[in-house]
Amino acid sequence: MNIASLLKAKGRAVATARAEASLLEIASQLSSKGIGAIVIVSERDEVIGIISERDVVKAIGARGVSALSLAVGEIMTREVISCTEDRTIEDLMGIMTAGRFRHVPVVEGGRLVGIVSIGDVVKNHIAEVEMEVSAMKDYLSTG
Ligand code: AMP
Repeated sequence: MNIASLLKAKGRAVATARAEASLLEIASQLSSKGIGAIVIVSERDEVIGIISERDVVKAIGARGVSALSLAVGEIMTREVISCTEDRTIEDLMGIMTAGRFRHVPVVEGGRLVGIVSIGDVVKNHIAEVEMEVSAMKDYLSTG
């Protein structure tokens, strides 16, 4: 399955914030939306960074609660690995494993059009394996 089909099924909503947002605002958004990462965008909606719950915990661990007043731009990851919609779920599994992160923004023509998390990838993988098992059972019972 490619990423375009996955996004069609799960939707294209992406949580974003500006680099000036405080870590407290980021933590509050992560918590209220029940998500693990937020994409940081410029005024022109270009992807300029990503912040995940792991970064927030790391900043608090290193600096204490005062980290919560930092601007997210100061601690976000700036080298964002993104993908396009024509990539496959297998491609994304490889990208996440190699980069050791769990979120990949989907960008088309410079525009953010979705995000894929490891949860989406695993959910899809399980569904595919279940379909294969079911097809195999049908084959064996009719053979
Ligand atoms: P995660 O596993 O998504 O919580 O992220 C682990 C670390 O990788 C954090 O420092 C994130 O800022 C960073 N990260 C997450 N997603 C990406 C990505 N697509 N490209 C680059 N870094 C990322």
